Amino acid sequence: MNKQQLKDLIIKTIDENRDKIIEIGHGIYQTPEYGYKEYKTTEAVANFLSDELGLEVEKNIAVTGCKSTVNDSKEGPHISILGELDGISCKEHKDANDIGASHTCGHNIQIAGMLGAALGLVKSGVLNSLDGKVTFMATPAEEFIELEYRQQLKNKGEITYFGGKQELVKRGYFDDIDISMMFHSLDMGENKALVGPESNGFIGKKVQFIGKESHAGSAPHEGINALNAAMLAINNVNALRETFKESERVRFHPILTKAGDIVNVVPADVQMESYVRARTIDGMIDASERINRALIAGGTAIGAEVVLTEIPGYLPILRYKDMDKLFSDNLVNLGIESNKIVDGGDFTGSFDFGDISHLMPTLHPMIGGVKGALHTREYEIIDEELAYIVPAKSMAMTVVDLLFDGGKEAKNILNDFTPVMTKEQYLDFLAKYDRTI
Ligand SMILES: [Zn+2]
Repeated sequence: MNKQQLKDLIIKTIDENRDKIIEIGHGIYQTPEYGYKEYKTTEAVANFLSDELGLEVEKNIAVTGCKSTVNDSKEGPHISILGELDGISCKEHKDANDIGASHTCGHNIQIAGMLGAALGLVKSGVLNSLDGKVTFMATPAEEFIELEYRQQLKNKGEITYFGGKQELVKRGYFDDIDISMMFHSLDMGENKALVGPESNGFIGKKVQFIGKESHAGSAPHEGINALNAAMLAINNVNALRETFKESERVRFHPILTKAGDIVNVVPADVQMESYVRARTIDGMIDASERINRALIAGGTAIGAEVVLTEIPGYLPILRYKDMDKLFSDNLVNLGIESNKIVDGGDFTGSFDFGDISHLMPTLHPMIGGVKGALHTREYEIIDEELAYIVPAKSMAMTVVDLLFDGGKEAKNILNDFTPVMTKEQYLDFLAKYDRTI
């Protein structure tokens, strides 16, 4: 069979199993779970891989999550297809559960798309004609939330990193993988898809301003107001904003997680969280250092102590145009008009897949079929074919492109490739920003 015949077989197989793919997407939508707690979701994915596709599954690869590898005995490049397991907090959404969790980032769609791609590759029998291995990996904890819970897991030695893919890299799950791909849902408006998004990376910050309590009415002169220190700190950062290079798209968006205890006592313990985001690693480091100085100065001004804890966040996402071209050609092959596929995108949010893009060639298209901004009450799925089925097919077809004919295409991409960081350099970078100042 030639390459197109293999692709046609994948398309036919996915079409015949369309309902099963959408059904698992619906099921996961209804049971959103936060990062490192995706027990039911992991179970659902593992059951699909084992019961529906007959694959061996390794479960709880990083607290939760699971993976299966096919074509294990074959030589040749090793491709991974990822899907993210976790939900996000959006208590305003009509489908949020009783703790406010929802799938308003569309990760349920990613999982169904990954399983759909797996189904297309496995059930069609095309794997026999491909020269390389494929791993399907359901990854935990992409959303960087519930930092206190993750700190507890870290203190207990159950994780080292707050981000699921960071943890999986550390545990060696990407050691033998050469190329990785996944997709993310996005309201594409009149368009259908976007290839080659670029995004910001970030360093996480927790800041504690420690003052001195005193009676707010009768003895404020005996206190040190930690809330004032925090307000000064925020204003100091605001005074820096015009100094950041436009191209770095710097973002600092703090929240106060504790602003005082009772109203008639001068606040002595005020706590803040934020990310410092920028487009390049150098930009992240530069902005982070200057923002640290500004935060500490807020305390210094009034004699409050500042304890600043940095948490390694995610790296900016890099694009690989050869991968983007394969994927968008497959979208066109599926009947998507090429003028509805946007080339390149400027995202100031962050994805933990950015970390993977520093270690190997990656593909991270955005696919439509949803409406409304991610993480908001407006978000909804409006076109199930485009949301679930099109990316399942086009990812599986891209695997065919990469691994057909001795894995020629994958080898071409890998021959030209030097990773931005080795795994060791990457882990050293994370360790550097895992500190209290
Ligand atoms: Zn997301």
